Amino acid sequence: MSTTDSLTNVYNRHYLNEVFEHKFKALKETDNYLTFFILDIDHFKLYNDQFGHVKGNEVLQKVAQTVRDYIKRQEDLVFRLGGEEFGGLLVTDNPGETSLWVSKLTEAVEQLQITHADASPQKVITISIGVFSAKVKDIDSMTALYSVADNALYQAKNQGRNQAVIIKPQDAL
Ligand code: GH3
Ligand code: MG
Ligand code: MG
Repeated sequence: MSTTDSLTNVYNRHYLNEVFEHKFKALKETDNYLTFFILDIDHFKLYNDQFGHVKGNEVLQKVAQTVRDYIKRQEDLVFRLGGEEFGGLLVTDNPGETSLWVSKLTEAVEQLQITHADASPQKVITISIGVFSAKVKDIDSMTALYSVADNALYQAKNQGRNQAVIIKPQDAL
């Protein structure tokens, strides 16, 4: 089975589940944290509606490349979770610093200055992010990590998009 997404060349969702089990077992007895984030392009349907699927795919490629360029430590992994959603799994001993750093990805994407659809409230392509860090010892499953990050993403959308919501280790699970 393939581990990468053919459009964007980042890892696919299937590989996320596989790699999580490996990292989880390897780090279980340590004091490390896992930081997991989900990002989603804002009002991307409007972009596709105006510019078409091919142009939309180019945006997906650019955003994926930007995330990969940003998340460049050897052991950090970037995934296409589906559609216009991407994720990342990072190991850290400083979850506060790592989460803050991930949140700045909104700026990196905004700086691409990709003109958005006329109907979009955002003038350029932006992303919303949900970020969650937890001590490996406290994590039950990838599903648990995923759902906390997904809720944070939902909050970021509700608060106006083009922003990150960070959930601290002690505030969930
Ligand atoms: P929100 O800010 O709430 O995320 O709004 P949205 O329009 O981005 O969200 P919604 O889920 O309504 O629409 C997602 C759109 O993403 C639908 C489709 O047009 C587009 N999309 C999903 N997958 C692909 C893809 O592989 N290629 C292209 N070009 N577009 C895609
Ligand atoms: Mg989406
Ligand atoms: Mg979207």
